Amino acid sequence: MRIDRLALGTATLLMLGGAPRAMPQERGDAQAAPSRQDEMTRSLLARLDLEKYKATIKGLTQFGDRRQGTERNRKAVDWIEAQLKSYGCPTERVRYVYDAPPRPPRPEDRKPFEPVIASGQVVPGPGGSRYRGIQRRTGVNTDPSAQPDAKLRELNAEPATNGPREEVYCTKVGTTHPEEMYIVGAHMDGHGWGEAANDDGSGTALVMELARIFSMPDVQTERTIRFALWNNEETGLNGARAYVEQRAGLQGKEDPPGSKRYPEPKWLAMVQHDMMLWDHGMPRADGTWNPEQRPEADINVEFQSTALRADEAMKLAFFFRTANEKFATDYPAAVGSHMTNTDSAPFMDFVPAISLRENERGMHTGAGWNPTWHQPIDVYATFSDKDFRLGLNATQTTGGAIGLLAGVTLVK
Ligand SMILES: [Zn+2]
Repeated sequence: MRIDRLALGTATLLMLGGAPRAMPQERGDAQAAPSRQDEMTRSLLARLDLEKYKATIKGLTQFGDRRQGTERNRKAVDWIEAQLKSYGCPTERVRYVYDAPPRPPRPEDRKPFEPVIASGQVVPGPGGSRYRGIQRRTGVNTDPSAQPDAKLRELNAEPATNGPREEVYCTKVGTTHPEEMYIVGAHMDGHGWGEAANDDGSGTALVMELARIFSMPDVQTERTIRFALWNNEETGLNGARAYVEQRAGLQGKEDPPGSKRYPEPKWLAMVQHDMMLWDHGMPRADGTWNPEQRPEADINVEFQSTALRADEAMKLAFFFRTANEKFATDYPAAVGSHMTNTDSAPFMDFVPAISLRENERGMHTGAGWNPTWHQPIDVYATFSDKDFRLGLNATQTTGGAIGLLAGVTLVK
């Protein structure tokens, strides 16, 4: 046993000092003695705070549902950028045009209501998933009168118009490998006549909180990390697609030559965060949900088994699971193979891509396990501290994994 642990420790040290690594090579053993890199990462993560995470979500909710193509969405982009700058994380924007197609998207979520799936019955869900057990109806609320709060109804009144769009990212440049980067993302737009507190204020705040701690003056990383807040996710991942279309071809190019500046470092992996609050489990047979957080709640890390980079994405997902075991204070992580309907999809054939959520998007969210999804009750006041803590545990999980992968050091 002792020899195994020593061997693992040596492997870890070699990995940290060795050649560039697109993918984790560390053995997935949270039982091993903590390495120096583990300790550095743990010290960094100690700067996360439940109240700060909540305050960032609350800050995002001042712009209502932040629907793309509206003034409230543009104001939210400005606000996010101002926060990122205040953390010391230099920002840039991606510009693109979005014109809504004639037909409304998302037909997959408009399944007929079937409360219980019979034994042996196969009900396919999105991304290759399979629905099981008790289902509830899902969909996007488009009825303003379903929002009882008159002020929020007014805030969300402006409809989307076609035209130019912007989204913001900020970048922590690596000290020894500025030419390679990890992308950590979430979508900042929402809809449904609520405050998009969960979908996806919770993921946006997670990314912003990581940008905050990784940008502190005493924090260095060997490799670059980019924190991206995608727009137009809810219309079909258009903001993330625009990023891939505009920037995939720029990867790894030094500009100007000899400057050691890389406007688009080579992508090593992409990690998306989409709805981090809730996991109260399957709906009950009477059509209600457990109002309290389940102690057995978990974070769902998903890769897509049909992606060109699926094998590496699977390894990355399990690396995140190990990071969860090392660094998350309360809730575990589970790995699934049906990542779908989120901004990591446009990246998944280029680089290992995964998503983190409070549920599996197909089997759970698709079957109606989260009653806040795209509904007027997706407001800050709906969620308890235990719900927010599930999101904080996801922040610890990603922060831990990225800290190890990018090689974080706290300098005196
Ligand atoms: Zn979402």
